[in-house]
Amino acid sequence: MTDIERTRRALYIDGVWVDTEQTASVTNPATEDELGVAPVGTAAHAEAALAAARAAADDRRWSGLTPKDRVRLLRRFTDALRDREEALVALVIDECGAPGRLAKILHYRTGMDHFDWYVDAADRDPIEPRRFAPLPGGGTGAAVVVREPAGVVAAITPFNFPFFLNVQKVAPALAAGNCVVLKPSPLTPLQALVLADVAEEVELPPGVLNVVTGDIDVGQVLTTDPRVDLVSFTGSDLVGAAVMAQASPNLTRVLLELGGKSALIVRDDADLDVAVPTALMNFITQAGQGCALCTRHIVHESIHDTFVEQLVAFTSMVTVGDPHDRGTAMGPLISAAQRDRVEGFVATARAEGATLAAGGSRPSGLDRGFFFEPTVFTDVANSSTLARNEVFGPVAAVISFADDDEAVAIANDSPYGLAGAIVSHDADAAFRMALRMHTGYVTINGGSGAMDPALPFGGVGRSGIGRELGIEGLDCYTETKSIDMRIG
Ligand code: NAD
Repeated sequence: MTDIERTRRALYIDGVWVDTEQTASVTNPATEDELGVAPVGTAAHAEAALAAARAAADDRRWSGLTPKDRVRLLRRFTDALRDREEALVALVIDECGAPGRLAKILHYRTGMDHFDWYVDAADRDPIEPRRFAPLPGGGTGAAVVVREPAGVVAAITPFNFPFFLNVQKVAPALAAGNCVVLKPSPLTPLQALVLADVAEEVELPPGVLNVVTGDIDVGQVLTTDPRVDLVSFTGSDLVGAAVMAQASPNLTRVLLELGGKSALIVRDDADLDVAVPTALMNFITQAGQGCALCTRHIVHESIHDTFVEQLVAFTSMVTVGDPHDRGTAMGPLISAAQRDRVEGFVATARAEGATLAAGGSRPSGLDRGFFFEPTVFTDVANSSTLARNEVFGPVAAVISFADDDEAVAIANDSPYGLAGAIVSHDADAAFRMALRMHTGYVTINGGSGAMDPALPFGGVGRSGIGRELGIEGLDCYTETKSIDMRIG
């Protein structure tokens, strides 16, 4: 087991640690105490990191290795991360406020499973022969289609699942042969620096992975600099739109994984023993700070009242508190500002006529930490502020429907289109509904229960552009080139 340093003053640029003038306290959201200190990168650090990544991409010190050699080094990378499992999980709990089980299973293990999947996927011949044939004008020819690394990837990530989301970019980018500059959220910088520790330990060539902390100024350099070939961004739709605008003068390609206001449709034949726990997990996981959580619960009118009664009963049993405590089901929000934002949505929902069925306040007895009660609203109009906006907090909006057409229409009437879920005994009806949903991802009856790395993930509308995971998630870090050859 390897420990993780929580007091840091340096960024990882071009294979060396570079001290910053400024540092910032990193706050534990469950206690409001300082859990560590992080360096604060500047635009100048971003410039230096881009120069390093560009040089590494141009001299092919990483892309020029055979896929097998890259894979060998990346397997050492994942081994070194596994050596840090205990310390990483503890850091996730402290930096994100994730309850222990969530930190271990979803943040850490799923992140590692995805890393492995990308490395396995890269461990194959990247050259696809397309034809060997006589040429139309005589002679013999052949063509191959090769996938090449995009080059320099600027990866920018949010606060809610930092380790998992940093891996979601760094793993496919490196597996495809790119050089990367990673910029994490200023709220959760320490988990990103662990990737730099590992890059140093396994002797990834200098410049191949650079980690620069900081906020908007750093992000602006990474999205406007012509040395970047691909901006891979995960965050809010508003910042995503800014990133796209910033990248557009250079026509830099963007991958945008943005927010959502996804719908869980509970049909009249649904098993409530499945539907109610599914609904609950879709607004309390990570205190509702999950992009793909289905926080609009669209429930058939014939079972609406029973569903609400059971959901409220389940909600009242959710233990909110210290994420280190084994009995805790839900931890805090990430910051005071995020809690203020959630409280604003709750006040607006009440003012707009929704009925508060559970929660709605800060839990009593938790004076420190950015906690908020799991909250359920009923009688929510799909046109209301609550139904149309991503709250990013533990707030569910229950809406009733009369028939399948109406359920799909309500689900699709959203600026977003990231995920969706259906609970029904009728697999055929549920599948047909899934086909009609304008989203990138749909689960039926809970799906596999895991984020299967083989399944592409991403959204439509204001939820983004492009896909992570699956072969699509690896291919988007590449460019495709056709080589058409005359042989004889
Ligand atoms: P955010 O958009 O506020 O910030 C994301 C990142 O962008 C941070 O690193 C931030 O420093 C950086 N940034 C801010 N302004 C920038 C600019 N002008 N140029 C470049 N970078 C800039 O998001 P957040 O509050 O950290 O995270 C929550 C959001 O992320 C939610 O909307 C959530 O749905 C979304 N999210 C989406 C996915 C997905 O896969 N679709 C996954 C997780 C989170």
